[in-house]
Amino acid sequence: MKVVTVGTGMASADFVQQLRTEGFDGEIVMISDEPYAPYSPCVIPFYLAGDPLESVFWKGQDFYQRQQITPLLEHRVVEVDREQRLVRTEQGASESYDRLFYAAGSRSWCPQPDWLQTEGVFGFKTLTDMVAIDRYIRQQRIERAVVFGGGFIGVDAALALHHRGIEVTIVHRNNRLLSQMTDVEGGQFATERLANKAGLDVRLHATVDSLTIDAGQLRGITLNDGTTLDTAMLIVTTGVTPNSAPLTGTDDGVSVSAELLTEAGIYAAGDVALTRHLVSDAPGLYATYPNAQQQARVAARHLVHGTGHYDGSLNTNVLQKHIDFPIISVGVFEGEAVTWRQGDLFRRAYLQEGRINGYILIGDTRNAGHIHHLYVTREPVAHNIAEILADRRGVSHYRNLMQLQTPVTV
Ligand SMILES: Cc1cc2nc3c(=O)[nH]c(=O)nc-3n(C[C@H](O)[C@H](O)[C@H](O)COP(=O)(O)OP(=O)(O)OC[C@H]3O[C@@H](n4cnc5c(N)ncnc54)[C@H](O)[C@@H]3O)c2cc1C
Repeated sequence: MKVVTVGTGMASADFVQQLRTEGFDGEIVMISDEPYAPYSPCVIPFYLAGDPLESVFWKGQDFYQRQQITPLLEHRVVEVDREQRLVRTEQGASESYDRLFYAAGSRSWCPQPDWLQTEGVFGFKTLTDMVAIDRYIRQQRIERAVVFGGGFIGVDAALALHHRGIEVTIVHRNNRLLSQMTDVEGGQFATERLANKAGLDVRLHATVDSLTIDAGQLRGITLNDGTTLDTAMLIVTTGVTPNSAPLTGTDDGVSVSAELLTEAGIYAAGDVALTRHLVSDAPGLYATYPNAQQQARVAARHLVHGTGHYDGSLNTNVLQKHIDFPIISVGVFEGEAVTWRQGDLFRRAYLQEGRINGYILIGDTRNAGHIHHLYVTREPVAHNIAEILADRRGVSHYRNLMQLQTPVTV
């Protein structure tokens, strides 16, 4: 049996590794539009901040040889021909398959796609982006940059550049940074710290309206309120689009079953896959590595043994690179809000019918494990949620487990 993966990203790498672990000894071909061994997008901000390039190859640069894989690199898949069981690439190759694993991830979405053709304007999604940004910073001796889009990836990008010694302005249309992973108060709390403690210049209720370009190179930007900023570098992090079109014909993502099958013989997983939420059951694109990893493993076991079931995804977000006040959130921010605040620490849980519906932790997140456990197991917590939130190190959890009564002082 021959297996082909579209993508050599985190989901695909975990998938083929699991196939080999499960004893699959057939032919495997991995196709990517990039020239690299599998790398982790989660750590590419560290590379930009100064870590060596080698550090991004999380499974080793000899992954293809070790796993006995034939890589087909710098080939962009444009079509999956189901009738012929063929994958076709823009570069003219076609690869036959018995089973296909489709994990093409997503790409940067830009409100003005042609901006990305300008010298000095970049997406922040792939290692190809990072290598180009790094080269440009060195060549142009960049000291000042603008990041457009203040979601998770935008803040990740801004912190990495700031860590490298670049002055960063982050432009965001909402009333707070990280608006998708926080509620209003939690997001404003995080935004204040990102401005005051992490040193980002934050512009809220703002968008980039136009670019000033000279001889093809960026020289500055104009915001919607008319403010102009001189800069030769703009990073666009206003969103992502799933790379589903070669398989489905649309950019809407790929629906999958609990076995990660989108149809007989074709699995899909990772950022491109539409899955159900583990707790709320809501369908969606839950684009984080832990979800991709779980999905890849379930698909591999299903391919080899014909059994396996994916329980669902979580929308967990953990922002902790280049800051000493980690920010964690998950779930839905609806229901009764119970909050604990002290200095630079913020903790809030949303309860519905006495159970945690979602939570946000900022600053000290050592009790995240306990709170997360209560969230996914749907345990009733109305009677002790205030104590759990106030608990510094999650010790009340262990005290309860050991049936000790001593109160904990914070
Ligand atoms: C900057 C950044 C920071 C992140 N930080 C975190 C984090 O801290 N924690 C976390 O959990 N998640 C994080 N993520 C998300 C995480 O990286 C993804 O959830 C994970 O990589 C998903 O794996 P994937 O295989 O679906 O996609 P990817 O790893 O993106 O791989 C997609 C693959 O498909 C290939 N491809 C795409 N289109 C085609 C095509 N047409 N033809 C051929 N090949 C194609 C790409 O080259 C790539 O090999 C981060 C993402 C980014 C961009």
